[in-house]
Amino acid sequence: MEEAQRIQALPPYLFARIDEKIAAAKVKGVDVISLGIGDPDLPTPDHIVDELVKAACNPANHRYPSYVGMLEFRSAVAEWYKRRSNIVLNPQKEVVTLIGSKEGIAHIALCYLNPGDIALIPDPGYPVYGVGTLLAGGVPYTMPLKEENGFLPDLDLIPEDIARKAKLMFLNYPNNPTGAVADETFYLKVIAFAKKNDILVCHDGPYSEIAFNGYKPLSFLEILGAKEVGIEFHSMSKTYNMTGWRIGWAAGNARVIEALGRIKSNIDSGVFQAIQVASIEGLLGNQDLVREMCKIYQERQDIVIEGLNALGWKVEKPKATIYVWAKVPKGYTSTSFSELVLDKAGVVITPGNGYGEYGEGYFRISLTINTERLREAFRRLQDNLGKFQF
Ligand SMILES: *Cc1c(COP(=O)(O)O)cnc(C)c1O
Repeated sequence: MEEAQRIQALPPYLFARIDEKIAAAKVKGVDVISLGIGDPDLPTPDHIVDELVKAACNPANHRYPSYVGMLEFRSAVAEWYKRRSNIVLNPQKEVVTLIGSKEGIAHIALCYLNPGDIALIPDPGYPVYGVGTLLAGGVPYTMPLKEENGFLPDLDLIPEDIARKAKLMFLNYPNNPTGAVADETFYLKVIAFAKKNDILVCHDGPYSEIAFNGYKPLSFLEILGAKEVGIEFHSMSKTYNMTGWRIGWAAGNARVIEALGRIKSNIDSGVFQAIQVASIEGLLGNQDLVREMCKIYQERQDIVIEGLNALGWKVEKPKATIYVWAKVPKGYTSTSFSELVLDKAGVVITPGNGYGEYGEGYFRISLTINTERLREAFRRLQDNLGKFQF
């Protein structure tokens, strides 16, 4: 049974080797501390869980849901954007419910890419942008995210023939893995570029609510002209600690939302209604817990930044996200440094090359672990690794 070319063409799983080493360390009895997990450790707020329990008991919610999502959920998404950014969205035409944003990100390529069509992909980046493109028979074209550009792609470096042929562009701010944020000037450039070249912009914004020191990330949809050229993927996962629930949405350009809904109606049958009902409570209920969650992440971020800087790094505090992205010391690759840290200190960091070739030379730390374990991790790094050269 030969596998189809589309799955043979998928890139290898780059964390396989480090996963093996982690497993081996655990077998040896090492108390491994993982700073590699991109999944919030805090629980879903009680008021959301309570709504789920109630809604799960209602037989009306036991049937096939609407493919594009309950109008009540889509209206809650529209209201959430209105409250957050004063954006007006038509919940009937400009919002579609997703089984987590990852699902929509993977399926949007099927809507817009013919075999051989180009999608512009940020590198380093969330792997699904490129994988969705490949599964659709498309060709990923890398937009390097470089530190000297604040980890924003330089659109002027995209050759004209590529820009003309490209049909999709993926962007993600606040950014996983770099923690970078984007301003209005950048988004206006993106919109002008997309209009000129007839490109659909897919902005992925799951970290928009996880920000520090009063910083408020922009939604792509609040930029003038965004809805003409694009959509925003968003999710309950990170804002409300609901990664396991599998619910997100896409919002924006009505034609694109309709196309994504059409693909989905042929592939899946929507999100369990009780989850949608509970998510409405999340979106429109008390948001104090989101602010408290940010404070918790901020305290952890302080420990990480101070810990790294005490070891010789010069890392600045990211304005948003649950990640810290830092350079590996001189003489190491992403992989060799991650292995060193695991071997010497029993601490897992994520090698940056897992997010693309431009992630080489970096590593990622996640803030998804309590302060006590974080402090312990940095104590071990201090005791077992010493200072580094950069
Ligand atoms: C976590 C994450 C997602 C996935 O979110 P789900 O809604 O849980 O599928 C999408 N994009 C990025 C960049 C992420 O880090």
